Amino acid sequence: MKQYDAQIAIIGAGIVGIATAYYVKKVNPDVSVLLLDNGVPMALTSAQSGENYRNWWPHPIMTAFTDRSIDLMEEIARETDNLINMNRRGYALTTRSESTETLMQELDYGYSQLPGSEIRTHNSNASHAYLPPVKPDWQTAPSGVDVINDQALISKIFPSYDPSINTVVHIRRAGAISAQPMGQYMMQHFKSVAGRFLNAEVTGIDTGDGFTLHTADNSTIKTQKVVNAAGPFLQQIAEMISTTLPVQNTLQQKIAFEDTSNTIPRNMPFSIDLDAQHIDWTEEERQLLTESADHHWLTQQMPGSIHCRPEGGDNGTWLKLGWAFNNTASDISRTPVLMDTFPEIVLRGAARLNPSLKHYYLQMPTSMHHYGGYYTLTDENWPLIGQTDVEGMYVAGAMSGFGTMAACAAGELCALHLLEAELPHYAQALSPQRYQNPTLMAELTALSQKGIL
Ligand SMILES: Cc1cc2nc3c(=O)[nH]c(=O)nc-3n(C[C@H](O)[C@H](O)[C@H](O)COP(=O)(O)OP(=O)(O)OC[C@H]3O[C@@H](n4cnc5c(N)ncnc54)[C@H](O)[C@@H]3O)c2cc1C
Repeated sequence: MKQYDAQIAIIGAGIVGIATAYYVKKVNPDVSVLLLDNGVPMALTSAQSGENYRNWWPHPIMTAFTDRSIDLMEEIARETDNLINMNRRGYALTTRSESTETLMQELDYGYSQLPGSEIRTHNSNASHAYLPPVKPDWQTAPSGVDVINDQALISKIFPSYDPSINTVVHIRRAGAISAQPMGQYMMQHFKSVAGRFLNAEVTGIDTGDGFTLHTADNSTIKTQKVVNAAGPFLQQIAEMISTTLPVQNTLQQKIAFEDTSNTIPRNMPFSIDLDAQHIDWTEEERQLLTESADHHWLTQQMPGSIHCRPEGGDNGTWLKLGWAFNNTASDISRTPVLMDTFPEIVLRGAARLNPSLKHYYLQMPTSMHHYGGYYTLTDENWPLIGQTDVEGMYVAGAMSGFGTMAACAAGELCALHLLEAELPHYAQALSPQRYQNPTLMAELTALSQKGIL
């Protein structure tokens, strides 16, 4: 049995716990911090991420928060000669709908408080002003948003898209990074300034004169402040001090495979089909599915937001496809059971925007990798960062499908709370105290979409 002391103990060495540890030490290297995990750092949810980032959100608070995170990721990219493989070809939101009024209103509102976030519209008369996503380099990519309403221009820039697409909204401050080297970099820095990592499972927490954490191997940790950064296990940690957090877990999946037949141009941005759809089954398949009690739902209308992007850079050959259609909360497991039909579902769904993917209907490439993890999320899909109802107990989590892109800003924000430093304007709204603000909560409940991708 060992005993440890630290001013701050952080439970969870996923990307969020690591970023919190990193920014605490960046702001004040003299604070003693112990980071705990019962597994390998970055190996749970953080290893399942699609690694996409964007500053596009339906609400200006989340826009400001993720935009700040992108500033911080760019800082790391600059410091490390882009060890984190940051690129920036944007997010392309596509729709067949001719009436994009709601989409445009959400866009205007989401970006309304972000300086320099120009929204440019391109139709056949003004198409010359549009800068195509030719290069992956994040430093030279445009900012703001381009809205393209001209089908001829859409086909020219995005040749793999189905010709039925009427509008593309191209979010320019968006792209992908590599999360594992980012986590490693922050961890190395944390250790280099006397940050400590302990491989141990927290099994209990006593309160009174600070906190005493108990671990499965009978060690104890005495600390003044605890951060719950346990990802899908947030609730279990909260229950150790007889509290609860307003979070649930939904299982989400992705596939990655080698695009052996070059069906998708390598310079295609992360592309999202916003429209709801009926999956493209053959009549025979549809009949069989209709007759199956378990699979009947696959013949019904499916939600939009299926996405596809090239993975591995311009010289790579892989693709990633994802579709976060599952909104049923589930119990959690460190090794979740994936839906064996998911690869087929996501491939057919994605082929609606990129019909060239139909090439793989008959035979999926043998390299196909099917993986998944939990979105730990609140009803409004905003994170929980800050002190909880229990003094000295903090939370940094509920990072849903945006935890990789928002980890740096979340870690920085949690560090500022812990060190009682000046907080950014979005701090209160992202803290557990937002539930005491009925005006904000009513606004969030009324939003037609919550930014879940
Ligand atoms: C399929 C999928 C795709 C995604 N795609 C994207 C994307 O494109 N972009 C994006 O930004 N985000 C994406 N995300 C979301 C992102 O991956 C998560 O939000 C993020 O990884 C959460 O990090 P975390 O540190 O909160 O949790 P985790 O990575 O789960 O880390 C929590 C850690 O806590 C540890 N722990 C738990 N309980 C204990 C205990 N009792 N004692 C000690 N340690 C404990 C665990 O071992 C774990 O290491 C995706 C998620 C999924 C599932």
